[in-house]
Amino acid sequence: MKVVVVGAGFGGLAAAAGLHQRGWEVTVVERAAELRAVGAGLAVAPNGLRALDTLGAGDAVRKLAAFKGDAAMRRPDGRVIAGTAGDAMVRRFGDAVIPATRAAVMDVLLGLLPPDALRLGVAATGVEVGDASSRPRLVTDSDPLDADLIVAADGVNSVLRKALFPEHGGPVYSGFTAWRMLVPAPPGDYLPGETWGGGQVFGITPLADGRVYAYAADHAVAGTTYPDQKVELLRRFGSWHHPIPEIISAAEPGGILHNDVYEMAVPLPAYHRGAVAVLGDAAHAMTPHLGQGANQAMEDAVTLAALVAPAKDSAEIAIALARYSALRVPRGADMVRRSHRLGALTQTTSRPKAALRNAGMRLAGRVVPDLALRAMDPVVAWQPPQ
Ligand SMILES: Cc1cc2nc3c(=O)[nH]c(=O)nc-3n(C[C@H](O)[C@H](O)[C@H](O)COP(=O)(O)OP(=O)(O)OC[C@H]3O[C@@H](n4cnc5c(N)ncnc54)[C@H](O)[C@@H]3O)c2cc1C
Repeated sequence: MKVVVVGAGFGGLAAAAGLHQRGWEVTVVERAAELRAVGAGLAVAPNGLRALDTLGAGDAVRKLAAFKGDAAMRRPDGRVIAGTAGDAMVRRFGDAVIPATRAAVMDVLLGLLPPDALRLGVAATGVEVGDASSRPRLVTDSDPLDADLIVAADGVNSVLRKALFPEHGGPVYSGFTAWRMLVPAPPGDYLPGETWGGGQVFGITPLADGRVYAYAADHAVAGTTYPDQKVELLRRFGSWHHPIPEIISAAEPGGILHNDVYEMAVPLPAYHRGAVAVLGDAAHAMTPHLGQGANQAMEDAVTLAALVAPAKDSAEIAIALARYSALRVPRGADMVRRSHRLGALTQTTSRPKAALRNAGMRLAGRVVPDLALRAMDPVVAWQPPQ
C-alpha cells in the first residue's frame, strides 16, 4: 500500500513514520526547498510523548529535556499567581512537558523515515479524492502522484483542505499576534513559565543547549507588520519583570518570528474525503495557549496510521478513514475550544478584571493545589488507540 503525505511538519512526518513502520511505501511532498524548523521552540506534552512512543521515538524526545522542575505563572511585576511542580505532573501524567527546539524534535521524526521518502521543493496544488473504483491522485507543480491514501498535513493555510471542503470558511483570525525567539540564557536566577498581563502573555522556557525559547502574544489588528520586532516587543513588554527585557534585548536582529494567530472556529465536518485524510493545523488550527497544536497533530498522525495501516484495499481504507474522523473531529474541536477559552482568560484587558482573575487563580491554587493539573486531564491524559 502506498501513501503520499503533503507537508513535512510534525503531523506529516509522524503519519509517514507510522505508516512506513507498518510496511507502507511512503512519499512526503514538501513545498520548501530545504527543511528548516520554523518557529523556534516547542513544548511536547505527555500526550505528544505517548504518540511518539507508538513510533518508538518518545525517549529520544524525553532526552532533550532541559528542566523538569517547577514553573510559575506570574504578573508583569514578577509576583507569582500560581505554580506547577514538575514532579506533580510526572506523578499525574507519567511525564513532564518537554521543552525542545523544533529542529531537534523534527530530526527525531526525520530519523524514522527511509532516506528517499522526502521530496523537497514540490508543492501540492490540488487533489482528486478517488472512489471505490479509482485511487486518489495528488496534483503538484511537478508530476502528479497516485497512491492508496493521501494525507493532507499542509498546515493552517492548507491548499488541500480548501480543495476538499470548499464550502468551509477555513480558519479565522483569533484577535492576537505572536512572537517567538531563541536566545542565549540570560544570567541570574529566574523561574520558567508564563507571565500574564492585561491581554498579553510572555513565556520563558530554558532549553538543554543553554538557550531560552521565549514567546509572546498580544492583541493586534490582523495583518499589522512592524518595522523592528525587537523595538515593538520592548515597547509592549520592556517594563515587565526580569529577565523578560533582557531576553528580548538578546534576540538577534531578524531572529524574532512574528505571525498572526488563526483558529478553526467552526470545525470541519470530517477529517477525510474519499481516500484523503486531513490532520494537524490543516484540520484544526488552534491558538497556542494550550501548547497543543503540534501535540494534536502527532495524536492525529499516530491514530490515522494505526487505523489505516491494516487496510488492504480502498473499501477497507474508507472504513478506517470513517473511524479516524469519528475519533478525531470531536477531539480536535474540543482542543480548539479549550485553547480559545484559555486565550480569552489571558486576554482580559481591563485591570480590575485581570486582578480578579489573578486573585481567583491564587485562591483556587491554595484550596486545591493540583487544580491546574487536574484541569489538564482531558487534554494530556489521552492514550493512543491500541
Ligand atoms: C507562538 C506559537 C507557539 C506554539 N507553541 C506550541 C507548543 O508549545 N506546543 C505545540 O504542540 N504546538 C505549539 N504551537 C502550534 C504548532 O506550531 C502547530 O500546531 C504545528 O506546527 C502544526 O503542525 P502541522 O504538521 O499540522 O503543520 P506545519 O508544522 O505548519 O507543517 C505544514 C508543512 O506543510 C508544508 N506545506 C504547506 N503547504 C504545502 C503545499 N501546498 N505543498 C507541499 N507542502 C506544503 C509547509 O511548508 C510545512 O512544512 C505553537 C504555535 C504558535 C503560533
